[in-house]
Amino acid sequence: MSNVVHILTRRPLDERLGTSVRPGECLVCFLRRMVGAQECLGSFTWAEHYRRSRAPRAVALERRLRSEGAACDCEVPGRVWRLSGSLLVRDPASGLLVEPAAAPRCSATRPASTKPCDNWSLARDLAL
Ligand SMILES: [Zn+2]
Ligand SMILES: [Zn+2]
Repeated sequence: MSNVVHILTRRPLDERLGTSVRPGECLVCFLRRMVGAQECLGSFTWAEHYRRSRAPRAVALERRLRSEGAACDCEVPGRVWRLSGSLLVRDPASGLLVEPAAAPRCSATRPASTKPCDNWSLARDLAL
């Protein structure tokens, strides 16, 4: 049984959540995939799901994400963590470096870690 329900339909998310974390997938790649393919449900629904299935002892995860500047799942990839520069592609129209349309493959983390993989850099460390 799960107490996680869809915020609008109130239907259990178990079917969508069940197999959603890929083996070795890091938190930030997972959130980017979920928020892109599904939707942001507000708050840290997906992060909490990741924590429960991969890193149950990381009980301070949500507090840490908030202190890093995210208010919900969709702000973790993009606002707190940015794709590393080597993964960006040049947009032919603007000439700017942008995130590729297809998410890069997760380069994987240790089990039970809530750290992102090498694909991501802390936004505040990227001097733009
Ligand atoms: Zn959001
Ligand atoms: Zn990753």
